[in-house]
Amino acid sequence: MIPPAFEYLRPSSIPEAISLLQQYGDDAKILSGGQSLIPMMKLRLARPAYLIDINRIAGLSYIKEEEGHLKIGGLIREAELEESPMVHAKFPILIDTEHVIADPQVRNLATVAGNLAHGDPANDHPATMLSLGAKVVAVGPNGQRVIPIEEFFVSVFTTVLEPDEIVTEIRIPLPPPWSGGAYFKLERKVGDFATAAVAAQVTVDDKGIAQKVGIGLTNVGPTPIRATRAEDFLRGKKLDQPSMTEASQLAAQESQPSTDLRGPAEYKRALVKELATRALRHALERAGT
Ligand SMILES: Cc1cc2nc3c(=O)[nH]c(=O)nc-3n(C[C@H](O)[C@H](O)[C@H](O)COP(=O)(O)OP(=O)(O)OC[C@H]3O[C@@H](n4cnc5c(N)ncnc54)[C@H](O)[C@@H]3O)c2cc1C
Repeated sequence: MIPPAFEYLRPSSIPEAISLLQQYGDDAKILSGGQSLIPMMKLRLARPAYLIDINRIAGLSYIKEEEGHLKIGGLIREAELEESPMVHAKFPILIDTEHVIADPQVRNLATVAGNLAHGDPANDHPATMLSLGAKVVAVGPNGQRVIPIEEFFVSVFTTVLEPDEIVTEIRIPLPPPWSGGAYFKLERKVGDFATAAVAAQVTVDDKGIAQKVGIGLTNVGPTPIRATRAEDFLRGKKLDQPSMTEASQLAAQESQPSTDLRGPAEYKRALVKELATRALRHALERAGT
């Protein structure tokens, strides 16, 4: 299907892009990878009169370690993150996530920032970013603000971003020693969105006691979900099979799945429990215990 007609605008700087966003308000949409927006336009689920293509803005394509954070520029493509040796070494959970997002063609264009900004609870990065305690940097007419990821998602396809704000960076704290993370997703076929998926990131001490725990859930509610009760339960406990099973049960209770063509709610809740157990176990192995 062909999308409805639109005006195409290509700013070369962030101030220029923000000024266009202010000028056209709700009639405008930012275009980055186009891997969610263009399909939605083809299906007539989005009808922006103006597309503001930010791809030519310089200085937004970087992956770097700085001030205790991994910083991912607003125009970094999924494929670039997937190929970063530093990300491989320090964030295997991000590589797990990359491998199950769509397919290589989509990942060549889709941006990590767009994956979050789209606000789709079925997207994979949100849960991983929740488990890692990431922050989203957004720039608008009033300057820059840094938004903790747990405050970012509001409802289906809605985030706290203002219509004239642009995501310019994602910041992830560098994990301390004895940390590990993993992302487990069940999909009906390769390239599909998750039936359910779980991200788990843990930091333990030399006795295997959990110091930090992050658990994020994909596609089992109107927004990506941070399983805080499961996290609280595990913090300060030894990560062993009984504690991880109990936490996974809590994560399943915190999920809010609905019945749809990917399966009944009950099945998805059971899946969350199983995937959380697997993700926690693998995260612990990667923590080097
Ligand atoms: C066949 C197919 C399968 C897919 N499967 C998966 C999957 O399994 N898992 C998964 O996670 N995703 C999947 N996706 C979605 C894909 O990862 C999207 O590209 C991603 O969700 C959006 O990133 P984008 O850069 O393409 O954004 P775009 O499509 O360009 O934009 C998406 C939305 O975000 C806004 N936006 C984009 N960038 C910014 C920014 N910097 N600041 C503010 N707002 C911004 C846009 O205005 C728009 O509203 C799939 C897509 C396709 C086509």
